Amino acid sequence: MSRRHRAERRPGEFMADRSGNGRRRRSGLPLAWLVLLTLVALAGPAPSAAGPYREYEIRFIGEASPLGKSPSDADLINAVAWTMSNKLDLPFPVGTKAYIYVNQATFVDGLIQIAGEERQQAWDKGRFAAGVAARAGILLRGDHLARMHLLARAGLFAHELAHVSQRKLADGGKAGAAMWILEGHADWVKFQVLELLGLRQYRESRDEVVRSSSPTCRSSRPARAGSGR
Ligand SMILES: [Zn+2]
Repeated sequence: MSRRHRAERRPGEFMADRSGNGRRRRSGLPLAWLVLLTLVALAGPAPSAAGPYREYEIRFIGEASPLGKSPSDADLINAVAWTMSNKLDLPFPVGTKAYIYVNQATFVDGLIQIAGEERQQAWDKGRFAAGVAARAGILLRGDHLARMHLLARAGLFAHELAHVSQRKLADGGKAGAAMWILEGHADWVKFQVLELLGLRQYRESRDEVVRSSSPTCRSSRPARAGSGR
């Protein structure tokens, strides 16, 4: 885990550790240990620095960096966000962040603390959602992301970031759009981003939607795993 955290750290990003794990220091340690601990701290995050979630400030501007074959969550989020901002001209609030939680319990905590959800609503969402959009940014289940392939991760990030952008677009408006419009638009944005990133053609995504909406397929239509709504 520590290696993964280190690999994902980039300028402008940082890891959160609200639990304070790894920061506590027992008194009475010999001087040699204190020196060693200081050197380890300077060298990078200690393994125990893994908190209940990681927090990234999303980069929307600057140069687009090419997407490797197996990008980290942070690199993929930045690539998706850059594409949405620079290719689709979608606006985002300043300081939009991504919060990646280690499991369902910490995700639910995040939904309450960051997204301001009521406890019951947070538990309901926490049971099935891999991602949720909030005013502050997107909240994600890291344990789900670890099991998802590149296309699904990119799609999830794009869909949830589209909801963040929708909030910005609606700033000052009188009433929110209907749910089906918001979800349809978020999926349309997702399909555009997948094509722009070279992951899947828009036509393929559209054909999949048509197939899943046809009466013959509807009865066997699988639940939308990974959807955050
Ligand atoms: Zn949605």
